[in-house]
Amino acid sequence: MARGLKGGCFCGAVSYRLTPRPMFVHCCHCTDCQRQTGSAFVLNAIIEASHVLPRGKTHVVTLPTDSGRPHDVTRCPGCETALWSDYGRRGSLLFVRVGTLDKPALVPPDVHIFTRSKLRWVALPKGTPAFKVYYDMKKLWPAASLKRRTALGV
Ligand SMILES: [Zn+2]
Ligand SMILES: [Zn+2]
Repeated sequence: MARGLKGGCFCGAVSYRLTPRPMFVHCCHCTDCQRQTGSAFVLNAIIEASHVLPRGKTHVVTLPTDSGRPHDVTRCPGCETALWSDYGRRGSLLFVRVGTLDKPALVPPDVHIFTRSKLRWVALPKGTPAFKVYYDMKKLWPAASLKRRTALGV
């Protein structure tokens, strides 16, 4: 995986590479993610913005949030596939939609969050931590990933 993970939008106008691997992967079952994806949950691979290498023109759609900080979604202007999110407009940290990777199976979720609104018929694997709302990053993230995140100052 030295060359990183590849992905792209549905129409092929935008492609990207992630290098190195994401720090951590969320499977979020909250009602906002359900509505925004039109599905049961979102899969977000958390990675430094500097490690997302896009090719092709993208555009950003800004969504309001409960916290008042904007949620910027980067999309392909042609097919409107959502490629990644910047929650809170931090600039340095992106949440890449795992389903847009060429091989999403290589990036399984490290945690399930907001399971309080998980759809009843979605069964979670026993080995993966799951939380009704959120979790303690310091307890779950690998040390190397925490170090990367600390380096971003977010
Ligand atoms: Zn596209
Ligand atoms: Zn969510």
